[in-house]
Amino acid sequence: MSYKEDILRLRAEGKSYSEISHELGCSKGTVAYYLKEDAPAKVVASNPFAQKIINYVDNFKETRPCISCGAYYHKSQLDVLDDNSLDSIIATVVDKETFEKSKRKISQLKFICANDDRLRKFRAAN
Ligand SMILES: [Zn+2]
Repeated sequence: MSYKEDILRLRAEGKSYSEISHELGCSKGTVAYYLKEDAPAKVVASNPFAQKIINYVDNFKETRPCISCGAYYHKSQLDVLDDNSLDSIIATVVDKETFEKSKRKISQLKFICANDDRLRKFRAAN
């Protein structure tokens, strides 16, 4: 399943990563993957394992509670707390072996629900 066309269309309409993520129900990592804007995302673009990792993380999310409110959510409602950590994990995966190794790092990722993430960002900015 690919969000590519919708992501590119919404971005062209001037939507932010968060808005696109919210509207399509996909993670910001997926949005970044298709927009290929920053350096880690360029690594992602040339990495055939990137989509596998993003899918694996999406499934893993549903086994973990939001770090802020402790509730369990649908994968579309959870984001990786630190987007950079997912990019750096993706950058280390080049084959099946490194993909297996990345699962341990993925198991240490923290997730935050969309509601709490918005509140956290609002408080940080004010
Ligand atoms: Zn929460």
